[in-house]
Amino acid sequence: MHINEFDLIRQYFDQPGLADAADSIALGIGDDCALLRPIAGHVAAITTDTLVAGRHFSADTPAHAIGWKSLAVSLSDLAAIGATPQAFLLALTLPEFNASWLADFAAGLHALSNETSIHLIGGDTTRGPLTINITAIGQVPEMQALRRAGAKPGDFVCVTGALGDAALALRLTKPPLSLADDLSDASSFALYESLQKRLDYPTPRLAEGIRLRGIASAAIDLSDGLAGDLRHILDASNVGVEINVDDLPMSPAFEWFHDHRQRLQLQASGGDDYELCVCIPPQRLAEAQAAVGHLLKPVGRITARTGLRWLDHNGAVLNVELKGYDHFRS
Ligand code: ADP
Ligand code: MG
Repeated sequence: MHINEFDLIRQYFDQPGLADAADSIALGIGDDCALLRPIAGHVAAITTDTLVAGRHFSADTPAHAIGWKSLAVSLSDLAAIGATPQAFLLALTLPEFNASWLADFAAGLHALSNETSIHLIGGDTTRGPLTINITAIGQVPEMQALRRAGAKPGDFVCVTGALGDAALALRLTKPPLSLADDLSDASSFALYESLQKRLDYPTPRLAEGIRLRGIASAAIDLSDGLAGDLRHILDASNVGVEINVDDLPMSPAFEWFHDHRQRLQLQASGGDDYELCVCIPPQRLAEAQAAVGHLLKPVGRITARTGLRWLDHNGAVLNVELKGYDHFRS
């Protein structure tokens, strides 16, 4: 089957009428540029992320999941700065034209874009090794953006959701681990699937980011693992932190499947969680928890002394060196 670039865009990515649904979008797909109207009192939050086949996802990942996750990672950045999603651009590099792959990819992408009311307003389509780049644009009241700088000694460090699921899912799918025995009953199979879903279909914490506007002193999303991402807050805010490792939240599936000797490694260095890590002044913790709900869990405190310390349940400092994910580490 032959299809040209413009038919491909029209067929898979243009959603007529969608752009008209949003007042702030004056022009969507189809011209030299999209046109956005500024929103009074707001600043535009803009972020871009690239997913490369073989590096960010394996060749056997379903196209539907790739579509979802490509957008989810950018929405997670919008969430972390407290922005409301507005529009996104999709730059797609494809090795070949594959109709069923494209249909599945577009379905996954649009499932999340519809759920989060973000509109595809343009992009670029080229041929080459499979690579997906998404630039997302959001809006946030200027003084309420959740930046990395701003954490103060005494602030609680909180995380949303649970940590380590994606890293554990990756580990369980890698040989030589055999899961055959563990998965023999229906309930453990469902738990296993929920782990896999956390890896393939991460939930960007958009509502939580928006609710923490004007409350959190600093925020970041956890894409490379708590150990690596927290350091960005520490550097930007010029503070240190103590994390109580026993308080790191685990999902039921994580509790069921993890090897306890690997718990901290998975939860702090694993990456791909797409949860938020936020700092909350002590006098505002109750307000933050009421705004976000049970999903927000304190796991440590910001300290004046710089550096990152992991504490056991007795408050003793653990002698561990944990790192986040780094593409250029050899
Ligand atoms: P130009 O050559 O002027 O950059 P293109 O031919 O690359 O324009 O794209 C034509 C229109 O289609 C533009 O509005 C562009 O934003 C949009 N577009 C191209 N590729 C994609 C894509 N993968 N998803 C969404 N819109 C796209
Ligand atoms: Mg172009």
